[in-house]
Amino acid sequence: MSTPAVERRFGPYGGRYVPETLIPALDELEREWVAARADPAFQEELGRLLRDYAGRPTPLYRAPGLSAAVGGDVWLKREDLLHTGSHKLNNALGQALLAKRMGKPRVIAETGAGQHGVASATACALLGLECVVYMGAEDMRRQRPNVQRMRLLGAEVRSVDAGARTLKEAVSAAIRDWVANVETTHYVIGSAVGPAPYPALVRDLQRVIGDEARAQVREAAGRLPDRVIACVGGGSNAIGTFIPFAGDAEVELIGVEAAGEGLDTMRHSAPLTTGARGVLHGALSAVLQDEEGQILEAHSVSAGLDYPGSGPEHAFLRDSGRVRYVAVSDEDALAAFGTVARLEGILPALEPAHAIAWLLAHPDPGLSLVTLSGRGDKDLAEVLGE
Ligand SMILES: *Cc1c(COP(=O)(O)O)cnc(C)c1O
Repeated sequence: MSTPAVERRFGPYGGRYVPETLIPALDELEREWVAARADPAFQEELGRLLRDYAGRPTPLYRAPGLSAAVGGDVWLKREDLLHTGSHKLNNALGQALLAKRMGKPRVIAETGAGQHGVASATACALLGLECVVYMGAEDMRRQRPNVQRMRLLGAEVRSVDAGARTLKEAVSAAIRDWVANVETTHYVIGSAVGPAPYPALVRDLQRVIGDEARAQVREAAGRLPDRVIACVGGGSNAIGTFIPFAGDAEVELIGVEAAGEGLDTMRHSAPLTTGARGVLHGALSAVLQDEEGQILEAHSVSAGLDYPGSGPEHAFLRDSGRVRYVAVSDEDALAAFGTVARLEGILPALEPAHAIAWLLAHPDPGLSLVTLSGRGDKDLAEVLGE
């Protein structure tokens, strides 16, 4: 059964490049999301949890130091103040609630830096669901505190030893688990990627960021922004920020990827800026790949941007020209981290530090709105070179 209310394709991108055994589960998820989205009781419970448990709405804050630095008006959407420290909880709470509604007692998730794993473990603890998180062995070593957090929250963390032992391999392991246990298990994907309906589902759950920000900026500044800027890993905080502004033709939308050690090296995570078209984790999108279509390893100083693919809707928005995608290097992101700390008294996560680095490099007298997708506590070892 097709439910056209949830997009399966964005232009040529998206789709379902998965083993046949998963198709019924994807159909079920699509049906349940369409029903849940229209169900006032579900919306009311999700809204209550987002407000009373997670801390929504997050503030929109006029940043005086950054405003002076760029000679304009800079507003930060403070997802760093959300429970567990990033926007990831918006999606994890929504999907965990959906798992309950589908009668699935077991949740699996993948995680890179650990932010999505922590958000999923948190939502599962809250809602009484079993939680298994797949994580690359290398990421477990680099992100020990988040592994400890997940375990304290009652989740089982499974080490993945294949390939580069990072996020890409963790997603593949989670998909294999899902194929084997699909009757009892819901797979909570952490970004706006994967086979349909995930890119649309995750976008719908993250658009609370942009819906709030649009209303808040109109209320506080009396107008819409000239530019809206967000960092893009898989693309969930960016798509959730952009979509409510997509119909406002006068608002420029800018997605910032990780240029790593440089776009002319092979050490970056900028598939939208540089990448060819290919299939990764069940969807056709912009991906980093070689001439034979083998997926290449990504690199970024920020673990949350260190992924060789991007959400299919971003590839479509790039081709249509509605969103401009740019890339910022490790070095410039690290410098922006320090600038935000000193000018605003905020330690940003290294992911949104990329968005702020782009802003600092493009001074403008207009109104710029930046999504500060998370806080930087998790990144201190990286920043301090430990
Ligand atoms: C995971 C993460 C990102 C990247 O993921 P998207 O799906 O692109 O939003 C960005 N910022 C923070 C703080 C993260 O934890």
